[in-house]
Amino acid sequence: MRTIIIGGGIGGLCAAIALRSRGIDAEVYEKSAVHKEVGAGISLWPNAVKALVKLGLGDALHSINFAPEHFALRRQNGATISVTDSMEMKSRFGSGVTVLHRADLLAMLAERLGTDHIHLGHECSGFDEDQDGVAVKFTNSEAATGDILIGADGIRSAVKTLLGHHDPLRYSGYTAWRGVAEYDHLDFTPGETWGRGKRFGMLPIQNERVYWYATANVPEHESDPPEGPAALLLSLFSGWHEPIEKLIRATGANILRHDVYDRRPLRSWGRGRVTLLGDAAHPMTPNLGQGACQGIEDAMELAGQLAVGPDIERSLRAYEAARIPRTGRIVVESRRLGAIGQWNSLPLCRLRDLAFSVAPKSAALRSFAPIIAYEEHLAD
Ligand SMILES: Cc1cc2nc3c(=O)[nH]c(=O)nc-3n(C[C@H](O)[C@H](O)[C@H](O)COP(=O)(O)OP(=O)(O)OC[C@H]3O[C@@H](n4cnc5c(N)ncnc54)[C@H](O)[C@@H]3O)c2cc1C
Repeated sequence: MRTIIIGGGIGGLCAAIALRSRGIDAEVYEKSAVHKEVGAGISLWPNAVKALVKLGLGDALHSINFAPEHFALRRQNGATISVTDSMEMKSRFGSGVTVLHRADLLAMLAERLGTDHIHLGHECSGFDEDQDGVAVKFTNSEAATGDILIGADGIRSAVKTLLGHHDPLRYSGYTAWRGVAEYDHLDFTPGETWGRGKRFGMLPIQNERVYWYATANVPEHESDPPEGPAALLLSLFSGWHEPIEKLIRATGANILRHDVYDRRPLRSWGRGRVTLLGDAAHPMTPNLGQGACQGIEDAMELAGQLAVGPDIERSLRAYEAARIPRTGRIVVESRRLGAIGQWNSLPLCRLRDLAFSVAPKSAALRSFAPIIAYEEHLAD
């Protein structure tokens, strides 16, 4: 059985690794000429960490990650709203949260898969599918044939559009800036700070670096001023607690800006021998830190279903039946949490902060449990 995976992001690489670990041939076709991730960090939650451990990547992950012991939710003056204990999460769910540089994660996955199985410079432009197999066309005039086609080609997936899904992306109402600064880990408590229509998050990663992100309510497609993103962020977050300004200044010009989108959950993903995975299937806002984690869950479920038996179409539909309801709920929940985090009205923000400060610690972990304690994708 030969699987063609379009897209060499976290989802596509994990799918290839999971399939190959089940003895199913899988090749990744990536449009970029150079295999790389954006210059930012990423948090992985227990549901994803345990999947990577199951794929035999536990030691490799441990060598590139940083696992903070606490996360604080704060007001812009630095006052603590609530604290989440990552160690308690570890004891309840088998893993805490782990934070790493995206480039390190992608390099780890590529090394595990083997670069021979990643075909760079291959942009999928079309496919044919019938009862005998799939034939994929690339813009470089090459072609590939196989038994299964997986569209893991991200939020603007060509495979999704070729399958006939034309639902537009939904702008969330806010944009996100991200950066990585060289900064002393011991100088701050990791976490997120909420203001009015703005948030700032900071998480340590390996080698005395800090991954930070900022959000603000702005019109779609707005761009940074000529003075650059740092100047804009320094004015947006002026007067916020330390070390927010220091982190922005320590990052220099390497600040990314992306409007945040998701898509109304699709009711079906694929047909015949074709399906979708990761952001191609379920783009979500980053408020629960679950976009990549859900792609990793997809990969495990897909490999598990395809290992069940020779009926490819039945396995792909079973994969979709397992994944569509769960990922759809997380898309909705992530959007809802983001909307609350971006509230702008002073009375509403005061109420929000009060509600989060009086909620017992156990309530926060309990509310995340259905997402982060999920283990069905780990079943044999
Ligand atoms: C601000 C922000 C913060 C986030 N933080 C987190 C977090 O902390 N934790 C978390 O789990 N998730 C987070 N996410 C979400 C996460 O980044 C994504 O869900 C994840 O990277 C998606 O992986 P993917 O492999 O599905 O898609 P992508 O990473 O988009 O990869 C798709 C790949 O397909 C390639 N491609 C596209 N079209 C074609 C084509 N036609 N042919 C061949 N190749 C093609 C692209 O070049 C790309 O390499 C965040 C997202 C944002 C925007």
